[in-house]
Amino acid sequence: MKKITIAIDGFSSCGKSTMAKYLAKKTGYIYIDTGAMYRAVTLFCIQNGWIKNGLPDEEKLREQIETIHITFVLNPDTGLPETYLNGKNVEREIRSMSVSDLVSPVSAIGFVRKAMVKQQQEMGKSKGVVLDGRDIGTVVFPDAELKIFMTASPEIRAQRRYDELKGKGEDVCFEEILENVKKRDHIDQTRAESPLQKAGDAIVLDNTNLNVEEQNKWLLNLFEKTVNP
Ligand code: C5P
Repeated sequence: MKKITIAIDGFSSCGKSTMAKYLAKKTGYIYIDTGAMYRAVTLFCIQNGWIKNGLPDEEKLREQIETIHITFVLNPDTGLPETYLNGKNVEREIRSMSVSDLVSPVSAIGFVRKAMVKQQQEMGKSKGVVLDGRDIGTVVFPDAELKIFMTASPEIRAQRRYDELKGKGEDVCFEEILENVKKRDHIDQTRAESPLQKAGDAIVLDNTNLNVEEQNKWLLNLFEKTVNP
């Protein structure tokens, strides 16, 4: 069967990764979580003490950007890929609120995007990949055969994030998460470099009122129609 590229873009905490992981598992495709890559760069800045007043030291980051290598390794117990920063598993650390608070300004920097897009294009060059992010269908793989743009209300997205973090035992506040979701939406949509926007040929999915099962069914159907038109 021919292999295709699937681009899933959209707002923060819409369930893009849930959908992408499901499809990757169902199809045997490789899943690439591009948000995890920007989160890993942000963690790298925090670890090096390069964050001042909520912004990274761009000079230092620019000097080191080519030394940041992000890979995904399948965890044999969960069957899910985990994020490695220069060979070290950082999957848990990159999901913390401290990283979430800083990731949008870091990912708005042009040279950071250029470096990450290059790594993403390399990972996906043989097709058979599902990528989720903000600019996959517009910048990383504008020729992707299937493009989906996901959206849902900020309140629903914050609630999902809250439930996820609580489930992991984190001490989190709903209002703080809602504020973070809205702030990231704003930065992602208004930044000069690759702002979050729907590709002209993307199919919109508003999943405010859909459960995961309904969403998965919709996606699988769409995938099959794309591969066997
Ligand atoms: O998808 P996730 O919420 O983990 O992404 C974290 C952040 O990384 C987003 O808020 C966005 O600022 C940035 N991002 C991006 N481009 C991508 C993926 C994520 O700018 N392709």
